[in-house]
Amino acid sequence: MASFDNNNNETKKSPYYFHETLSTGQDELAKQRATFDQTKIIYVDNLLSEESANKIGNFLQTMPDNWWSSTFFIQQNNDDAPALTDVPYSDAFSHRNIQENKDKCEKCQQMALQTFAQKKFSYSFNRTYEDHYATCHCDLCSFVGFLKTPEFIAKVAELTGYELSRTNEIFASKYISGSFLSPHHDKVKGKIGMTFYLTRNWAPQYGGILHILSSDYKEIVNSFVPKFNHAVFFDIPQQEGIPHFVSHIAPGIPDKRLAVTCWFD
Ligand SMILES: [Zn+2]
Repeated sequence: MASFDNNNNETKKSPYYFHETLSTGQDELAKQRATFDQTKIIYVDNLLSEESANKIGNFLQTMPDNWWSSTFFIQQNNDDAPALTDVPYSDAFSHRNIQENKDKCEKCQQMALQTFAQKKFSYSFNRTYEDHYATCHCDLCSFVGFLKTPEFIAKVAELTGYELSRTNEIFASKYISGSFLSPHHDKVKGKIGMTFYLTRNWAPQYGGILHILSSDYKEIVNSFVPKFNHAVFFDIPQQEGIPHFVSHIAPGIPDKRLAVTCWFD
């Protein structure tokens, strides 16, 4: 989008704003930073101004289904390698949510669930890709632009104390009943990961909980229930990554778990 083009001399101001409690010098910012120093993970209560959060939240809530793609990871080899090794993302499948892909998606969903049951790396959820961002001016594209601004990157640097200069892969995700993401580590994705929740009225029993695991993947050490306008920021240790997963969404849940995920270097 032209407004965020570095070559554009008259760079327009982003239509998105941080929540006022995250202004430089505020107690909340200092508090989050102190927590991050200790725990390497923080859950920021209000990332954006109410108006900004509603703008992107309402857009994702009503975005046409065929703007989303159903994405699956299905480990096809028959060896018993656990899910936790360095899996190349070569068994990933993505199909745009259009009628003619429906059968394919249902088959992929079944195979992803089978892969999960074998404790192998697997996922099933809806996501966006950056492929339409170059020409699109929708609220999601302008939000993606905001995540790439020096202003946003500087705020993440302030919250974490890390030196950051770049936003890596960015996507929006939609989890519905049956969606999940099995344990993995985010190694090589960036120094800092962020998931920004735009889910209203979620309940812990719906699932879709972000669970952080111990380094041996055997214990849950922290859990985050998606809350509207809340964002989790986490450190990704270079050597081992950060083991985590998103639990399955329970059957029959009418709500969508909406989020935007990205990584920073
Ligand atoms: Zn767009």
